[in-house]
Amino acid sequence: MLTLNRSTWLEILAEAWRVYPLEACGLLLGPDDGPVDRFVPIVNEAQSSRVFTLSPMGYMKAERLADDLGLQVVGVVHSHTHTSAYPSPTDVAEATKPLVPPTWHWAIVSLAWGYPELRSFRVSESGSAALRGDAVEFGVELGMDEEPVRLKD
Ligand SMILES: [Zn+2]
Repeated sequence: MLTLNRSTWLEILAEAWRVYPLEACGLLLGPDDGPVDRFVPIVNEAQSSRVFTLSPMGYMKAERLADDLGLQVVGVVHSHTHTSAYPSPTDVAEATKPLVPPTWHWAIVSLAWGYPELRSFRVSESGSAALRGDAVEFGVELGMDEEPVRLKD
């Protein structure tokens, strides 16, 4: 389960609106097993309203910050400005790349409707294997397990 402090959730939301209509993105830092400690916004190098690419420089800085704080990168968050908070086929493909840890939370904030939606997913090992076949369009069902998101004060 992904646990976010309300203040972290508000930071994510603020970043999503700040770069709207482009997709916002960033990394979640925390202990391995526990609430997210902080959200680090990262420039979307794709400068797109449909996809995101974490800037490599931003990624490096976030990893360094995690090291300094004794934390790990535990997930990635990005916004969807035109669609619901479910992983797109592109997201599924990205999530199943070999260097992406399968333990990562994939949190998605949708601003497509009048209110923000937040969902988080994980790629299961078996799911990611299945996704290497021709099932990418069904990837959301097969490979991404929606997990509860808990907001705490
Ligand atoms: Zn996406």
